[in-house]
Amino acid sequence: MKIQWLGTAAAEGWPGIFCRCSACRRAEELGGRNIRTRASALIDGILLVDLDPDLYAQKLKLHLDLRDIRDVLITHNHGDHITPLYMEFRKRNYYLEDLPILPVYGPADALELLAPYREYIEAHTVEVGDVFSTTEHTVFTLPAVHSAPNGKYYLIERNGKTILYMHDTGILCLEDAVRMLRGHLRAPMDLVSMDCTYGPNPLPEGYTSHMGFAENIRLKERFLQEGIADDHTRFVSSHFSHNGRMLYDEMTEYMKPYGIEIAYDGMTAEV
Ligand SMILES: [Zn+2]
Ligand SMILES: [Zn+2]
Ligand SMILES: [Zn+2]
Repeated sequence: MKIQWLGTAAAEGWPGIFCRCSACRRAEELGGRNIRTRASALIDGILLVDLDPDLYAQKLKLHLDLRDIRDVLITHNHGDHITPLYMEFRKRNYYLEDLPILPVYGPADALELLAPYREYIEAHTVEVGDVFSTTEHTVFTLPAVHSAPNGKYYLIERNGKTILYMHDTGILCLEDAVRMLRGHLRAPMDLVSMDCTYGPNPLPEGYTSHMGFAENIRLKERFLQEGIADDHTRFVSSHFSHNGRMLYDEMTEYMKPYGIEIAYDGMTAEV
């Protein structure tokens, strides 16, 4: 199985769209892996997780052939994860050839945003605990703890390999994750992509919606203790806010002792 992180920033992007903080200026000067668009991922080139607002720019930059996409998973209804307008361009009269109806899976309130495009998509509402098949993958639905009350995250499986795509959620999802994954998995996971909006910053008092490095480290330790991950499992942090201030190299250095990788736009991993 292959995952490609198309975008790896939190909602405002990095550099932030209206920002001139030092982290955004340094990212602009250095470029490369420090420039981050809004978060989404492509699994095996055919399963898209989230319709982020930068998908078209990502297609151009990463030379993606988005015609290959067979299914879409939506995590939640926040604007950095679902851009309804992209479904307008499934309409047949934009192209010389017909596009197939696109299956889209997600929480009911997120799919509601795609209602104007129902002719070109097949909307499938998912609930916590649902296991369903897309064209080539099996997907297990888990409950996010996030400011979007219906948020989900997904375990994606193919040929005995598993990738957990865990965005946007806070650490309070951990107990449910452990219980549900222990019940579902037959082998330790191969890769875990974790929400890391806060980076090195401590979460504000009582804040539950996202994670940072400290929560990612805790999550990894717990998954290892529970046997749902092991030494071979790759752990990757993504969905970064510029407010964390650390650039790619600094974050990579910081997380190296914990065996956690830092995602960047276009990064791929094969498991
Ligand atoms: Zn987000
Ligand atoms: Zn900034
Ligand atoms: Zn969100």
